[in-house]
Amino acid sequence: MTDRSAISVFDMLKIGVGPSSSHTLGPWRAAEQFLGLLGDDVARVVSVGVDLYGSLAKTGRGHGTGIAVLMGLEGHDPETCDVDLIPALGDVLAERGTLLLGGAHAVPFDRERDVRFRVQESLPFHPNGMTLRARLDDDSVVEHTAFSVGGGFVVTEGESGVSLDPVVELPHPIESAADLARWCVEEDRSIAGIVRRNERTWRTDAEIDGGLLRIRDAMIDCVFRGVRTEGTLPGGLDVTRRAVGLHDRLMEPASSFASSAEWFEAIRSARPNFDHTVKWVSCFALAVNEENAAFGRVVTAPTNGAAGVLPAVLMHYLATADSDDLDRASIRFLMVAAEIGSIFKKRATISAAMGGCQAEIGVSSAMAAAALVEGRGGSVDQALMAAEIAMEHHLGLTCDPIGGLVQVPCIERNAMGAMKAITAAHLALSSVPERARVSLDDVIETMWATAQDMSVKYKETAEGGLAMRIPVSVIEC
Ligand code: SF4
Repeated sequence: MTDRSAISVFDMLKIGVGPSSSHTLGPWRAAEQFLGLLGDDVARVVSVGVDLYGSLAKTGRGHGTGIAVLMGLEGHDPETCDVDLIPALGDVLAERGTLLLGGAHAVPFDRERDVRFRVQESLPFHPNGMTLRARLDDDSVVEHTAFSVGGGFVVTEGESGVSLDPVVELPHPIESAADLARWCVEEDRSIAGIVRRNERTWRTDAEIDGGLLRIRDAMIDCVFRGVRTEGTLPGGLDVTRRAVGLHDRLMEPASSFASSAEWFEAIRSARPNFDHTVKWVSCFALAVNEENAAFGRVVTAPTNGAAGVLPAVLMHYLATADSDDLDRASIRFLMVAAEIGSIFKKRATISAAMGGCQAEIGVSSAMAAAALVEGRGGSVDQALMAAEIAMEHHLGLTCDPIGGLVQVPCIERNAMGAMKAITAAHLALSSVPERARVSLDDVIETMWATAQDMSVKYKETAEGGLAMRIPVSVIEC
């Protein structure tokens, strides 16, 4: 599967809300698109309905798909909305009996009647299909069928996989790891250097740097919230948050710090030893994915289920970096990570509904591994080797979330993906890439072939693996 669209760093790394990029963020964006399609006709709508198909129907209740669509239809933006509104919206709608389309136009609404989970039906184009319908006052119907293809990307039927800007001509087009390596040699640039040149197609250096630092800060803020929040995660599985306990065994409670910056500086000045490094990395990853499971604000990287890997490795890197220019280090790290993720997206998939968990945790681990190598001063070939190693040891990883909730095995799996990324980076940094038997492109092709061979039960349907062994009555948000 090769996609020739140009993908920006900011398409791969997006600020949004949990728990799933494909089942929450994507459907939310599809609802926003639908509002845009209606335009001024929003005021003429007399009824709305949503049909969710395939994986969206099978795991949508646990993933908050219905509530995400309703947030989108009510005109909330996932990047800026008050996340406390999300779990409350279901009760608000039930009491109100109306949906405020675009935040302004009230239409009669009954959630059971108007949001339909078509668990027996799947649309042929992609397993994550949905149709939104609005009836207007003259009885005409406006309809929009969209597909959430992973990482928050939404396309319509016939689009090639990403709805980006296929006509953009980048100075250094990259369709494979080999292309990236070749550009780095020809232009005598690091991976981040090539990514920046491409990124200038869309924005200025100041916009690139400012945007990436906002993403870095959103990642750290998410961890900071996660390590201060106790309790049980929503959904009915009764999973207890553990990041706060892990954190408080390592240092004084995060709530005693005035800001995430002050708290992070305290971690950095502690210079964790090996044992503490493992605990901190696990703590960071758990914190993000506990926030993600609770509809918190996270950075999709490249998906929400895998949103903890990159922040955990980034914070490990920054906490142990010799440089004092942590802004520069963060920007470089995120650029490399995003480029590796985009190659996976172009040549394989970042959708668990297409490829299982290797497409989520495996890809995020590969992204983080390469970024850590370049940050630590490794060569381009070592960075690509690290990404290869990280994915090689996630090949075949299935997606079997219990109850369709992004909690078990997902939360711990982020800690594992982060540790594998760090191990892969260290292996690559002490290796000679020319002697490697498997290239990054080889492992991407293998991942895609494995995805095609994988039983559909293990592709985000909650119909196989752990999801079948552990019964749970999902409480929909
Ligand atoms: S098992 Fe992996 S791919 Fe599936 S929802 Fe959890 S983190 Fe995502």
